Amino acid sequence: MKIVDIISHFKDGLNKSRKNLADKFELLFHYSTNKSDFLERLEELLILSDVGVLATSEIINKFSQLNFKEYKENNFISFKKKLKDILIDILNSNTLKFNVNKDRLNIIMIVGVNGSGKTSIAGKIAYSLKKESNNILLVPADTFRAAGIQQLKILADQAGVEMINAKEGADPASVVYDGISAAQARKKNIIIIDTAGRLHTKINLMNELEKIKRVIQNEAQEYSLEILQVIDATMGQNAIFQAKSFNKSLGVTGIVLTKMDGTAKGGIVIAIKKELNISVKLISLGEKLNNLYDFEANKFVEALLD
Ligand code: GDP
Repeated sequence: MKIVDIISHFKDGLNKSRKNLADKFELLFHYSTNKSDFLERLEELLILSDVGVLATSEIINKFSQLNFKEYKENNFISFKKKLKDILIDILNSNTLKFNVNKDRLNIIMIVGVNGSGKTSIAGKIAYSLKKESNNILLVPADTFRAAGIQQLKILADQAGVEMINAKEGADPASVVYDGISAAQARKKNIIIIDTAGRLHTKINLMNELEKIKRVIQNEAQEYSLEILQVIDATMGQNAIFQAKSFNKSLGVTGIVLTKMDGTAKGGIVIAIKKELNISVKLISLGEKLNNLYDFEANKFVEALLD
């Protein structure tokens, strides 16, 4: 996906998180009387920003090796640069990007709990990829809610892409089967599958999603499969539990973080990377079709801390 003026979009979208993290980090630096005082307060700030226990201890460990007194006498900018570098290092290790394979069928399966933003993301991805001249088919496999199918149809029309029809209550795996046949017959290069998201603790949802995955593996030819889990960034640490459970059943290949505009806890990106080692590939900063961006660690950290 093309990234246009991403930093300014990130900056607007991450306003709440930046106020929380960057402003408070600066206050800590100026008002801490010594290193241990600073480290204690920094730890608290990171945990409250949803950075997670593992990443917090890595950051505290790195800061404990610095000469705090020397930085205090010099300047805050170079001290803040240390935090940026640590965060970028965590986010950039083994990072995978969201990519479309031009020479084969790309199947993108969107999973996540209800309300996380799945259907919106299916529409947003369709909108972005359509602009890059792809031939897309949307597949409404969330057949438990009639409203879900209608919502996807509205987004398909707005994005100018085709959607196959499905009836409420139809077997989601058979809708996917039809979708794959239709896409192969119509020479589509991208299939985007919206799935149901009742609570992840209900085993039958995972069975349903695993069945869809098997249908893809059995029916599609020469394809690549991206299983994107949509996570609502305002869920805090609960997001980590959700991601673990979907990943265990399905093997998630990337994460899309939504509603980053509505949270002061953008640190969840760092926790997800550190604790799950699944790449955050896309990030959504609003409700409009064009509010979806490729996740770029450097730009994200810059927008979060500057
Ligand atoms: P689903 O149940 O997982 O399919 O979730 P929906 O796609 O229906 O989204 C649930 C709600 O979240 C809708 O009101 C969306 O407009 C809203 N939403 C989705 N993504 C974002 C985002 O990035 N920012 C904001 N502010 N709202 C979002």
